[in-house]
Amino acid sequence: MENLIENKLLKADNAFQKWKNVPFEEKQKLIAKAAEIFKTKAEIFGEIITGEMNKPISQSIAEVEKCALMMNYYAEAENILSPEKIDSEYSISEVKYIPKGVILGVMPWNFPFWQVLRFATPAILAGNTVVLKHASICFGSGNAIEEVFAEAGFPEGVFQNLEIGHREVQEVLEHKAIQGVSLTGSEKAGAEVAAIAGKNIKKSLLELGGSDAFIVLDDADLDEAAKVGALARLQNCGQTCVAAKRFIILRDIEFDFLPKFIEEYKKYVPANPKLKETKLGGMARPDLADDLEKQYQKALDHGAEAIIPLERISENEFNPGLIRVEEGNPILQEELFGPLGMIMIAENDDEALEMANNIPFGLSNSVWTNNKERQQFFIDELESGTVNINRMTSSDPRFPFGGTKTSGYGTELSLHALKEFVNIKTIIGK
Ligand code: NAP
Repeated sequence: MENLIENKLLKADNAFQKWKNVPFEEKQKLIAKAAEIFKTKAEIFGEIITGEMNKPISQSIAEVEKCALMMNYYAEAENILSPEKIDSEYSISEVKYIPKGVILGVMPWNFPFWQVLRFATPAILAGNTVVLKHASICFGSGNAIEEVFAEAGFPEGVFQNLEIGHREVQEVLEHKAIQGVSLTGSEKAGAEVAAIAGKNIKKSLLELGGSDAFIVLDDADLDEAAKVGALARLQNCGQTCVAAKRFIILRDIEFDFLPKFIEEYKKYVPANPKLKETKLGGMARPDLADDLEKQYQKALDHGAEAIIPLERISENEFNPGLIRVEEGNPILQEELFGPLGMIMIAENDDEALEMANNIPFGLSNSVWTNNKERQQFFIDELESGTVNINRMTSSDPRFPFGGTKTSGYGTELSLHALKEFVNIKTIIGK
């Protein structure tokens, strides 16, 4: 291992020895300061995001502002990590929450500030220190975040950016200083990293891909569903884990809903991501656009019908596409991480549910109906970490966030995330 990296890991471990003893409320004050800096510099950081991965600037700025909001949530959060008394016959009878140590974050490029801070903030507030392996195209974001932690007054070594490629992750994760890993990314990366963590008996948390359903029933507000559905698919150029990727529509509203949806969908036209009015930029890298084109062709080869053809107009830009897909098409087992949506037609609620669940993933589905019983049916039966009723998925710091099936395991956001990287120590005595 390079000396520079080894030194950073040792520095993180040294920092942990003191940071774990800093009172929760003191840690919260520093988090509030960092939140303030993110809020004040949202435009500057937004430009870094747009420069690195082409996100339209207004969405990049909104991402940084949301980070500030999330950090403020933790800055004011109840301390659920205080020792807890257990009712028993013993005179000493309690549990304590002990931070694990240095936690490695392996993070993706699609929300270069949000993903990192969503993981790091509760981990650090719980008393851990963090080293980041960011996506290779996002080292600028990683460095900017490290600078904010320093500017806010966090002790050196509490948050460090490593600037390493994915081939170096194994060595870092195996290092004795590292006690756990949180990875947000593809299934492939998640499986490989979790295998290394498992072999070394270190805790892992995985936030992976999805192919969420957006189910529209016949009593829904179709205008609203069409408008929100287009945004849910095409925001961030479709490169969002919780984007609506499969639109499951009941047959009896097919001809009412689809024209509205297509009209909304066509409002997304690629433009310069540096302009504030731009709603759709290009994809983050040309090779990702190549992958999406191949998946589009695969879907068509297996019988999908192009409702709006996916049109590549530059090395990383598309006019968004929409395809109609039948059950059995192998494309349904894959995640489409770009501006290509899938329409499926269901005969009734049972079939819509079956279609929604018949995939390897289970992240965050959305159901559109005003009927309470039908809402409850989908709330109970959908296999996903989150169910949204009459809204698109968007994470909220107050609510837990996490996947089921191959979308991963573990919880981010909310108070629950504070307990992901702690050991529970039991103390019993007379
Ligand atoms: P990715 O290729 O898996 O990369 C994610 C991170 O993992 C990057 O830092 C990458 O480093 C690293 N990595 C890749 N292969 C690795 C390996 N074999 N060992 C160790 N590290 C490895 O994913 P991406 O293309 O950046 O992001 C898109 C994926 O993330 C999608 O599947 C999306 O659904 C998922 N995602 C999930 C969530 C969620 O909360 N569930 C949120 C956002 C994104 P390099 O850049 O150096 O390759």
